[in-house]
Amino acid sequence: MSQESILPPRESMHYDVVIVGAGPAGLAAAIRLKSLNSDISVVVVEKGSTIGAHILSGAVIDPIGLDQLAPDWRSDPECPLKTRVATDQFYYLTKTRGVRLPNWAMPRLMSNHGNFIGSLGGIVRWLGARAEALGVEIYAGFAATELLYGDKREVVGIATGDMGVGRDGHPKTGFTRGMELFGKYILLAEGARGSLSKRAIARYGLDSVSGQQKYGIGLKELWQVSDNVFSSGLVQHTFGWPLSKGASGGSFLYHYGDRLVSVGFVVHLNYENPTLSPFDEFQRFKTHPLVRDTFVGGKRIAYGARVIASGGWQSAPKLVFPGGALIGCSAGFVNLARIKGSHNAILSGILAAEKACQALAEGRTNDELNDYESSWRDSVIGRDLYNVRNVKPLWSRFGLVPGVGLGGLDMWTNELFKSSIFGTLKHGKPDSDTLRPLSEVTPIVYPKPDSVLTFDKPSSVYLSNTNHEEDQPIHLRLHDPDIPIRDNLPRFGEPSRLYCPAGVYEVVYANAAGDGDPRFVINAQNCVHCKTCDIKDPAKNIEWVPPEGGGGPNYPDM
Ligand SMILES: Cc1cc2nc3c(=O)[nH]c(=O)nc-3n(C[C@H](O)[C@H](O)[C@H](O)COP(=O)(O)OP(=O)(O)OC[C@H]3O[C@@H](n4cnc5c(N)ncnc54)[C@H](O)[C@@H]3O)c2cc1C
Ligand code: SF4
Repeated sequence: MSQESILPPRESMHYDVVIVGAGPAGLAAAIRLKSLNSDISVVVVEKGSTIGAHILSGAVIDPIGLDQLAPDWRSDPECPLKTRVATDQFYYLTKTRGVRLPNWAMPRLMSNHGNFIGSLGGIVRWLGARAEALGVEIYAGFAATELLYGDKREVVGIATGDMGVGRDGHPKTGFTRGMELFGKYILLAEGARGSLSKRAIARYGLDSVSGQQKYGIGLKELWQVSDNVFSSGLVQHTFGWPLSKGASGGSFLYHYGDRLVSVGFVVHLNYENPTLSPFDEFQRFKTHPLVRDTFVGGKRIAYGARVIASGGWQSAPKLVFPGGALIGCSAGFVNLARIKGSHNAILSGILAAEKACQALAEGRTNDELNDYESSWRDSVIGRDLYNVRNVKPLWSRFGLVPGVGLGGLDMWTNELFKSSIFGTLKHGKPDSDTLRPLSEVTPIVYPKPDSVLTFDKPSSVYLSNTNHEEDQPIHLRLHDPDIPIRDNLPRFGEPSRLYCPAGVYEVVYANAAGDGDPRFVINAQNCVHCKTCDIKDPAKNIEWVPPEGGGGPNYPDM
């Protein structure tokens, strides 16, 4: 008899719209639905222990989305988005120098004039309170683990995960069955590489006409810095050092609030050298002469990591399926050149909500919201992504410096002439397929952390306040448990040890000299839910599934 058949049945609740994920996309959809018709019943489930606990972003916010969603946000004292961008700088870094690119040479769309700096975590907390005041039910601490299907293959709801299941898969003391939440429409707002979104994309072939999605891993620290280095409203981006050939990405550094500096580093996951460690590249970046003084005498307050969707226009899958739709970064709506996606997350939440509201008014249920699909490319979201569609493929094809130059030129021609000499370029291989074998690369050796500017993974993960119930099934599933040691270790040095920003994966030997048979160890309790392993494993062998609701990072204001 299967485990499922001996468990008590799940209780169920019915709503008009069920939303998975309380990020900017999910909450914008919830708020718009309730604002359009207060009789529509809306529920949001969120896997973080509280709203915002799993949100990690830069964040320089283009207010275009908030202006539509909550036009009074600037005058609302509760809205935490207060710092206006004052200075906008872009640098190319060599090992010892920073070469500033003049603002006049930058395409207009790259300008941060009129944008605001803040914590996206803080913003979603504020949006969450607004949604609840409108009557939206929000359940934080509940992970949606299953899509529920009707007779016609349509999605009719979601189920939240059971709580209190032991490592062996059996119920233990305190076991609580998950809930079934049925809706006339289900909006998936899980952010980049959402686990249910991935299933919906596969089941309905939503990516059969688009290019594959591309990703970067973004690592971030929040610092409180000394008065003498703080410059409210300063926005600084860099590319170049410490990344070398075969890897691209760059840094961001934003000054806001009470002497807060948000510093982060994005490494595109199509990097080639398996000995590259995004975490250590980030640590090295902070030692560059351009930025190191920012941190001297300061205090590191928080750390975290999250993948960022970067395929843009060409990679957006079909957004609708019978019974629901993808919104926000579940759909991949990031403008990578601007490193911004939260405005599109909000705008897509609004757009999908309007189409769902219309469908409900027509008495429709669990069909495809085709108007959402057919309208996004001509909307502000589409225009935002279209103008930068070649930037990432050009970086990948021509390498960092020529690629950035050509990408800049392409943005200019798109802006001025509404067309590109390149047309629309395709992305290269999937990120899982770009690693070269150890035998073909020069190993990268990283300096030891000094615990002042640079740190190790354990002390960093500590600052993410990550917590999981240890006695639960491992949520990082290996399709074949032998692959890490048998295949990945000899060929690539088992790269998960390096790309995982939380030190979840280890290869251990009987003693420090490396004697005995190697063993692959998964420290699942450290996982910060960044989803990198679900994307970068060269054998596509790791599947990230939601752990027990409430587990994972507890970001203060990231
Ligand atoms: C390092 C970094 C820097 C960035 N900088 C900027 C910036 O400066 N400006 C900008 O505009 N954008 C920036 N972005 C992009 C921006 O953060 C995203 O575009 C935005 O957060 C997308 O919003 P979302 O609502 O789609 O997803 P998310 O913000 O990821 O929210 C998704 C929510 O859904 C929850 N969830 C996921 N799966 C489930 C599930 N199965 N069950 C229940 N809950 C679930 C998650 O816990 C999370 O709370 C950055 C991203 C990164 C990684
Ligand atoms: S285990 Fe995977 S999802 Fe978790 S932190 Fe590591 S790479 Fe990210």
